[in-house]
Amino acid sequence: MTKRAVVVGGGIAGLITLYRIRQQSPDTDAVLLEASPRLGGKILTTSFLGRPIDEAADAFISRVPWALELCEELGLDNFLISPATTDAYVLVDGELRKLPEGLLLGVPTKLLPLLRSRIVSPLAVLRAGLDRIRPDDWPGDDESVGGLIRRRMGDQIADRLVDPLIGSINAGDTDHLDVALAAPQLETASRRHRSLIAGLKEQTKISPENTKPLFLSFENGMGHLVKVLVNALGDADIRTNTRVTSIANNDGYLNITTNGATIESDVVVLATPAHQAANLLSSCSSAASRLSSIEHASVALVTMGFRRSDVHHPLDGSGVLVPHTEGLLTTAISWGSSKWPHWVDDEHAVFRVSAGRAGDTRALALDDDDLVEALLTEIAHILHIEGSLIEWRVSRWIDAFPQYAPGHDRLVSAIERDLRTEMPGVFLTGAAYRGLGIPACIRQGGECADAALDYLTAK
Ligand SMILES: Cc1cc2nc3c(=O)[nH]c(=O)nc-3n(C[C@H](O)[C@H](O)[C@H](O)COP(=O)(O)OP(=O)(O)OC[C@H]3O[C@@H](n4cnc5c(N)ncnc54)[C@H](O)[C@@H]3O)c2cc1C
Repeated sequence: MTKRAVVVGGGIAGLITLYRIRQQSPDTDAVLLEASPRLGGKILTTSFLGRPIDEAADAFISRVPWALELCEELGLDNFLISPATTDAYVLVDGELRKLPEGLLLGVPTKLLPLLRSRIVSPLAVLRAGLDRIRPDDWPGDDESVGGLIRRRMGDQIADRLVDPLIGSINAGDTDHLDVALAAPQLETASRRHRSLIAGLKEQTKISPENTKPLFLSFENGMGHLVKVLVNALGDADIRTNTRVTSIANNDGYLNITTNGATIESDVVVLATPAHQAANLLSSCSSAASRLSSIEHASVALVTMGFRRSDVHHPLDGSGVLVPHTEGLLTTAISWGSSKWPHWVDDEHAVFRVSAGRAGDTRALALDDDDLVEALLTEIAHILHIEGSLIEWRVSRWIDAFPQYAPGHDRLVSAIERDLRTEMPGVFLTGAAYRGLGIPACIRQGGECADAALDYLTAK
């Protein structure tokens, strides 16, 4: 008898799960249900001033293989582009300071350039240098990113360099993010070496690919990946505008209730954010309550277009990080038209301004007009902009960033155990669990397809 696998959620993790299931088991009746009218989830490329811009993810990291391997498999490797510049700034006491060379995930591995950058005080540079001689003071598992950096390098490095960078990737507060999950490179370096700087330097030496571009995207924006993947899915049964409202056990099968019908399936893969998965699994109360304990942060991204001549800054970099200690709504300004070749035209400067993170919902509480005005005031001051905005777009991403609190990994394992005993046949995948970047979602989608097919074979 044909077995059925239903994937709920058409973001990158759900699409990859469907793709792998169809590739490895063409006889399985594989269906994807997506609540919204479009596929891609947090990958969304739209047109702005006649150019393709990304309203959420605008790149993927190349240091881990999964996204690159998929690009090769889909014949996309020739369309990859990298940022025009890797220079960037950080705002310190209202002034822009260029990030020094030798930073790895915001951690300085070279102290002289750090001193010259004037991002932290000379005393803070000395404090960071103590990392080389201080004894090992590792407190055990479940350390936060902030905990590690504060103990090895001091508060200014944590607040002005590492938190703005890793915090903005996760829309989180690094004092509450698990270092092993949010910054595994830092965790490995600190475990292998007494000194964090020495550990990071060693990693750079043994990974020659570290000299290749760190971030990659596509000439037509990240949406190109979704488009090509959906094309590769051919005649797959993909149903948009189909919101799943509950999943229940029914005598060895799973009943999936949607806004239109009830579907019976052998396997269900939930590729939705964790809070959505919790709602769908209310009949498995332990998994549901654990899933709802995963916090999510919201962000607003405002894309703003100006006449280039109205911006009195050379824009010689990819953007600005704004530490939370500056007290602004803005957390980062990506200089899209300086960073990405496909955003560039001679006449305009296009910026993507981020606001909001875990524990700071001030920006999200504003309506669109007030938000644009508040961010415009902030960035006009930072970048010396005179003249008015010529186009803008507000993209709100509500409860979009899962916060990997220390111990998150154990929490996810416990949820998977709950499901195995109470809802066999239900699997979880996607950003909420084991890595939120696009490559990690691609990896998890593939692993989840394997697990689901193993379950079907054994059933
Ligand atoms: C603003 C922003 C910027 C980012 N920038 C980057 C970046 O530059 N690089 C990077 O690597 N990562 C970035 N990320 C992270 C990355 O984009 C996401 O973690 C990843 O795309 C999530 O993929 P996913 O498939 O797990 O979930 P999602 O993309 O959230 O997809 C889940 C899908 O499930 C659907 N769904 C939810 N509930 C139901 C239901 N009940 N029934 C049916 N369907 C349902 C949703 O509509 C959605 O389409 C960014 C994220 C955001 C929000």
